[in-house]
Amino acid sequence: MLHLNMATTTFSKKILGLETVEPAVTPPPAGAEAAFNKKPKLGSTKSKKRDIPEGLWTKCPKCTTMLFDKELDDNLKVCAKCGHHFPIGARERINALVETCSFEEMDAQMTSVDVLKFTGVAAYADKLAGHQKSTGLKDAVITGVGKIDGHRVALGVIDFNFLGGSMGSVVGEKLTRLIEAATEKGLPLIIISASGGARMYEGMFSLMQMAKTCGAAAYHAKARLPYLSILTDPTYAGVMASYASVGDLILAEPGAMIGFAGPRVIKDTTQVELPPGFQTAEFLLDHGLIDAIVPRKEMKERVSHYLEHMTERMKKVASLG
Ligand SMILES: [Zn+2]
Repeated sequence: MLHLNMATTTFSKKILGLETVEPAVTPPPAGAEAAFNKKPKLGSTKSKKRDIPEGLWTKCPKCTTMLFDKELDDNLKVCAKCGHHFPIGARERINALVETCSFEEMDAQMTSVDVLKFTGVAAYADKLAGHQKSTGLKDAVITGVGKIDGHRVALGVIDFNFLGGSMGSVVGEKLTRLIEAATEKGLPLIIISASGGARMYEGMFSLMQMAKTCGAAAYHAKARLPYLSILTDPTYAGVMASYASVGDLILAEPGAMIGFAGPRVIKDTTQVELPPGFQTAEFLLDHGLIDAIVPRKEMKERVSHYLEHMTERMKKVASLG
């Protein structure tokens, strides 16, 4: 119990103050003190709602640990206990990868046009405006040139928060311009994807981006410049079936779901039981679709290492004609 017998003048004042605020409080029952002094236990669902202010903690979906948001942010949105990779915004990714102040963004103001006047549950124009407001982005990709450990690279990063990272005409055009700039300036190319695929609101204009981005990537490859495609959770459909799968090196984050059609569609169509771990990065590494799984916190170092190796090698190949 509280040490009332040790009360000093100031302590008495405190008690008095409390009493004036909550005069109707009845004495706590025996054993209540223990509960009061107990710190909220991480992972405890019982005390979570009452003791933890909303927006400060996030529950890890894999290991159910309650993670302090500030620490989660400092850890690049990776669970410190089990290594689960949470979604991360495009700007945060860029900040984690490139040297401070080295990133020069390209086509930052390019926005989509509602060519088809798409209406449905919500009009495309309204959806675009809503996502622009909530993400602070004009569309689902940020492109530009920056430095990673001294390597100047052309970098494109998709943000899944903007309409599921879907590739419409702006995403396709920005990526194509990025790839063409990389070819022109002789820079390595890195594209980090997180996308549900082509953007249905732009119909065939979205599908055209698949060929356009791949065409630009082919010219980049012809110039013997390295292209690293980094797949994050989730990368699917029209994006996986185009520029994302033609990298010289294809990396993925641990546990990322990667594929063309989703597992449910495949299961329903083929009527076959899918193997465990189907479409995870680990499964695809075992089956040869990707080259390496790189944890987010090691990404900068590993990318820098690969770039060093690949640019040296490509220079040698080029010199041989
Ligand atoms: Zn966890």
